[in-house]
Amino acid sequence: NEVMEKLKTEKSKALFEETKMYLVDGVASSFHKAADEEYPICLEKGKGSKVYDVDGNEYIDYIGAFGPMILGFCPDAVNQAVIKQLDKGSHLSAVTVDLCNLSKKLTEIIPCAEKVSYQNSGTEANMHAFRLARAYTGKKKIIKFEGQYHGWSDEEKVSIDANFVSELGVREHPNRLFHSKGQRHETADDIIILPWNDLELLECVMQKYSSEIAAVITEPIMCDSGPILPKPGYLAGMRALSIRYNIVLIFDEVITGFRVALGGAQQYYNVTPDLAVFAKAIAAGYPFAAIAGKKEIMESGVQASGTFNANPIAVAASLATIETLEKGEIYKQFELLGNLLTKGIIELGQIYNITLFCHSVRSICMIVFGMSEPAEDFRDYIEKADSNGYKLFVKKAQEYGIRFTSKRGRIYLSSQHTEEDIMKTLEVIKLIFSEIKGDM
Ligand code: PMP
Repeated sequence: NEVMEKLKTEKSKALFEETKMYLVDGVASSFHKAADEEYPICLEKGKGSKVYDVDGNEYIDYIGAFGPMILGFCPDAVNQAVIKQLDKGSHLSAVTVDLCNLSKKLTEIIPCAEKVSYQNSGTEANMHAFRLARAYTGKKKIIKFEGQYHGWSDEEKVSIDANFVSELGVREHPNRLFHSKGQRHETADDIIILPWNDLELLECVMQKYSSEIAAVITEPIMCDSGPILPKPGYLAGMRALSIRYNIVLIFDEVITGFRVALGGAQQYYNVTPDLAVFAKAIAAGYPFAAIAGKKEIMESGVQASGTFNANPIAVAASLATIETLEKGEIYKQFELLGNLLTKGIIELGQIYNITLFCHSVRSICMIVFGMSEPAEDFRDYIEKADSNGYKLFVKKAQEYGIRFTSKRGRIYLSSQHTEEDIMKTLEVIKLIFSEIKGDM
């Protein structure tokens, strides 16, 4: 057994200090640095399942650039497609053969996709979906669930987070929480917040306000805020209710899309929404998003604006990504590795007497400390999960060359992760658990 040494990261520290002088907070997204982190690791490159920092350290990466890197870093097929497109122009703002092919392909593989439309990010695509639902129904209000993130616009960034259950307010009438300075609170007047996984409450609200509610938006698996799976029948129930009350059902598949199945969580759970939004993994690392849905809603007269919509580089990357995912046994491989990792973590938790829950849905694995069963909803999660324990776990893992997201235990696998990566990761976790068992 070789002794594991903590990595040295002085150059990351120095580079961050310099970047801070010019770039607000020294990072390009507030999520690139954990709130209590002195400095983030500055990366130089990624290849396969690994990333490399400016000090020359290698890390097994489970952040996947927050989700897109489903094929790992620098996947050959995507690189080749992009290089080919570069010779034809980086942007054309026109109909192209690839655009036609991709649109056809998406309508073939995504159950709800009769028609598609494009944007550059999940945020924009969800904004577009809101507008489609409002145009189609002539109604304004949108139901959104506590702890679910759909983007950073004024209207989307409501009740995405909380530190204490008390902040969330009464279960039947949750508070609307705002998370950024400069956010206009009145934009949330048309947003109804509800706890997730509670069909009865959803029905009450839908029935009472059906004449005002245009859409209900949900992540089919609550990936962004805790490892929460839908209760059996919950998504199907939501589907039935939204039909009954003429409310557009939107699945935000920005994380689940392509990760749990080629056709998204709607295929995995066999529940077809009216509209669905895809981003992140759809182009394996290029800024790209698609809205897919029923023809009559997609064609309700909403303008699709955006200079960079359907950028040819992203379109080429997306086509190559889908072609790669269609080949071989990638989803089976995700299942095998996900099981290996989660079972291994659970076993280590038992050995070191650390309370945790860990599970996976294909390429998305999730870990939570302080709970031995999955959370039912965001309130349950906020109340019981040991978020400080998780933070400590992530910090230590990074010191030993494993990168996990700094918040809420989402672990992304890529097609480039190997059994060897998982075994090495479990070795590190074993070491961490032996070091922290008294603190958890
Ligand atoms: N929806 C979900 C479920 C997400 O996780 C995210 C990003 N974390 C978004 C929407 C927003 O996507 P983007 O960051 O591409 O704007």
